[in-house]
Amino acid sequence: MIEAAKTIPVVRGAFREYYFKQARAVEEPGKIEQREFGYAQFGQAGMTRHLSFNSIKELHAMLVKEVPSDVYCSNAYYKFPTQPMQEKQWLGADLIFDIDGKDLDLPCVPSHTYPVCTNCGHALPPSDEKKEYSCPSCNGKKAERVSIPCSKCIEGSKKEVRRLIEFLTTDLGMQRDNIYVYFSGNNGFHIHIGDSEYVPLDPQARSDIVGYLSGTGLLAESVGVRKGREGNMSFIKFPRGGIAYGWRGRIADKLKIDGSSIIKLKHIVDQKGGYAGFKSELDKMTREMGVRIDPQVTTDVHRIFRMPGTLNSKSGLAKTRCADLESFNPFNDACLLGGNKVNVRVKTHVKLKLKGEAFNISKESAELPAFAAVYLICKGLAEAM
Ligand SMILES: [Zn+2]
Ligand SMILES: [Zn+2]
Repeated sequence: MIEAAKTIPVVRGAFREYYFKQARAVEEPGKIEQREFGYAQFGQAGMTRHLSFNSIKELHAMLVKEVPSDVYCSNAYYKFPTQPMQEKQWLGADLIFDIDGKDLDLPCVPSHTYPVCTNCGHALPPSDEKKEYSCPSCNGKKAERVSIPCSKCIEGSKKEVRRLIEFLTTDLGMQRDNIYVYFSGNNGFHIHIGDSEYVPLDPQARSDIVGYLSGTGLLAESVGVRKGREGNMSFIKFPRGGIAYGWRGRIADKLKIDGSSIIKLKHIVDQKGGYAGFKSELDKMTREMGVRIDPQVTTDVHRIFRMPGTLNSKSGLAKTRCADLESFNPFNDACLLGGNKVNVRVKTHVKLKLKGEAFNISKESAELPAFAAVYLICKGLAEAM
C-alpha cells in the first residue's frame, strides 16, 4: 500500500521512534526461546521468518535496527524454532482467535470504504454504487478497498468479542483471567488464551472448537426434533442430557421452550414446515447466535501471528492489550505514534478522529501530526510531500 519514495522514510521514521521510545509496550511472549519470529519490511514483498530471540532485549534491538513494517511471533512452541518447518519439532501452541471487523458485514462499511487503485494509488471517495471499478487516472481495473473503521465497526467487533468470551467461559469453562483481549492494530480483535490445557491440541481439535463456537452443524436432534418415518414427518424426543445447557440451552431460550415443552416444540416444527423447515430455521438461528471468528487462524498451529505491542502497517496503530474492553477506544488507546508535523498530499476527502483530535481534510495538501499522517499513508489515502 505504501508507495512513493518520500513516503516510506516518513512512516519508517515514526515507527523507529516508537520502537526506540516505547520498547516496553512490546510484550514478551511466554517461553520466548521456543517461539519462531518473523517480520516484513517497508517496500519489500515477503517476510523474513524462522528467527529466534533468547530475550526480549534481543528482540527490541532488532526492532530499532531493522524497523520492520510488521512483526510476527508463533503461537506455537518449538524445540528448534529456527529450523525449517519439518525440523522444528512442534511442542504445542497457544489457542488464539481472530475477530475481523471486515467479516461482520456491517451496514456502515460502504460509507467509509475508499477504492484505492492497485496500479497507481489513485483514491476515490466512498460510494454505494456497485458498478465495476475503473481508475479515472490510469484506467486500471483493480482497486483495494480501504476502510477507516467507524465507531459502529468497533462496537460491532466488541460485541463479537463479548459473545466469544461468553461461550469460552460458560460452555468451555475457561477462566476469564486466562482470556487476553487485544486490539489487532487495524479493524478487529485477537483473543489469546493463557490456559496451558489447550496448548497440546491438534488442528482437528481446534477446528472442533471453532465449529462449536460458530454453531455449524448443530443437529435438530440435539434440541429434540427427530425425523419421522416418512419424508418431512417429525416427532419430538428430547435428548437424555436435557436442553438446558450450551447450544441446546441457547436454542431453547430462543424458542421459549424447556424439557417439558413437547407439544409446544411440535407446534413450532409444524409451523416451520416440518423437519426440513425446522432444520433450516435452526441453521439460521445458529448463524445469528454463533461467534464469527476466522477459522484458519485458530486451526493453523504453525502460523506466525501479529505480536502484541508492535505496530500494524495497515494503520500505524499498535496491537494493544484491552485491559477494559468496554472503555477501550483504539483511536486513542492504540494510537501511539508521535506528533511531529508532516506535510502530506491527501488523495481524497477524509474524516477521522485520532487521539481525541478530529480531522476533516478536504484540501490536497495538509500539515498533520505524524500519527495522523502515518494513518492516512498506511491506508493509501495520502503521500508524504
Ligand atoms: Zn490507477
Ligand atoms: Zn463502520
